[in-house]
Amino acid sequence: MVRISSIVRAAALRAVIIGAPGSGKGTVSSRIVKDFGVSHISTGDKLRDHVTRATDLGKQASKFMNEGSLVPDELIIDLVAHEINAVNGANYLLDGFPRTIEQAKKLQDKFPVNLVLNLIVPHEVIIERVRNRWVHLPSGRVYNIGFNDPKVQGKDDVTGEPLSQRIDDRPEVVAKRLKNYSLQTEPVINYYKTLGIVEDFKGNTTNEIWPKIKKHVAEFIAAN
Ligand code: AMP
Repeated sequence: MVRISSIVRAAALRAVIIGAPGSGKGTVSSRIVKDFGVSHISTGDKLRDHVTRATDLGKQASKFMNEGSLVPDELIIDLVAHEINAVNGANYLLDGFPRTIEQAKKLQDKFPVNLVLNLIVPHEVIIERVRNRWVHLPSGRVYNIGFNDPKVQGKDDVTGEPLSQRIDDRPEVVAKRLKNYSLQTEPVINYYKTLGIVEDFKGNTTNEIWPKIKKHVAEFIAAN
């Protein structure tokens, strides 16, 4: 009897993107997806989708998500393994995972990451950016004082209604979120540094950082 074994080629790019809230991680991820046709696996997005569809996973995960705590490892690791298998050998970018060293080690056992894109934006720059952000709460329209101002100060362009600042955009709240982020993420970055696969990208704005990332990712894919 002849056994036919299926050979699944590992993707050239098996990347993780890491960046503080407000670092431009979302924008960079969507540019990588657009320019390189990479599959974006965001655990936050996938979990929210499961919650919306009220799947078993969604039902189990929602109580952890609602209280802002991490979903247990076995649930999240199964989800990520499923999503990586689903892309079927295509290049992928993990976003929001791993969040702990345990997750990083388990991922490395099953699906070794070969590139970690680490966005480094000074925390004072992020705090300043968020301080200048005003929103029209009913529509979600966002204005940035200094480069995307409303036509009339403090008023929404479309409705003329007052703009406000989100509570979680207050400088002291942002500073706390950034501190928590660093505490949680630094061990993961250090773990990946020991593997020699971290690439740091420093800058104050996404437009400053993006060309360096684009070049690096293009070269990386070509070489793998
Ligand atoms: P995010 O949109 O990445 O902030 O994720 C939203 C929520 O999903 C988090 O607050 C966690 O409850 C859960 N979550 C996302 N990624 C992970 C992860 N890697 N480990 C555990 N929980 C996660």
